[in-house]
Parts: sequence; C-alpha cells; structure tokens
Amino acid sequence: MDQMVECEFCGTEVSGGSAFTCTYCHGTFCPAHRLPFNHACPNIEEWRNSKPSAKKVKKQTSESRVLTDQKGLVVGGVLMLALIIVFLLLFRIL
Ligand SMILES: [Zn+2]
Ligand SMILES: [Zn+2]
Repeated sequence: MDQMVECEFCGTEVSGGSAFTCTYCHGTFCPAHRLPFNHACPNIEEWRNSKPSAKKVKKQTSESRVLTDQKGLVVGGVLMLALIIVFLLLFRIL
C-alpha cells in the first residue's frame, strides 16, 4: 500500500508515509530535506515571512489544549459524582 516517493532534493526513496510535502513549493522531500532551507526552496522568502504566524498557531493550539484539559476534568468530576450517587443508591437498596 505504502508508495515509495523520491526526495526531489537528494533522490532518496522514502515511503509515502514518511515523505514530506513542502507547503511552499509543493515538492516531495525526505525527512532531512523537508524544511525550505534544506531543499533550497524557491519560495523560501514566503516561508521566512510566514514564520511569526506559525508561532501564533502553535500558541493557539496549546491554549485550546488547556481548554480541553479543563473540559476533561469537568467531565471526570461529573462521572465521579454519578458513580458515587449510583453506589449510594445501590447500598441503600441492599
Ligand atoms: Zn532528501
Ligand atoms: Zn519548498
């Protein structure tokens, strides 16, 4: 199933799963040459300009992770409460 693809920079054959596509020139590269400055990307200026926004995206994802963690805690607390109530009811019946 896994297709072999050739790195456009060094010619190394990598499986499709571990190959990287450059966002800026849409070339296919091995893990060592996936970054624009490693394969002399023709659109490296675009990559340089986009770097600060990439940082911003990273920050947003970490913030949303914190939010989901909090959500998980709330859900966990509610589940614990429900379990305690179920146990109390069971013991009362027995
Ligand atoms: Zn390569
Ligand atoms: Zn590129």
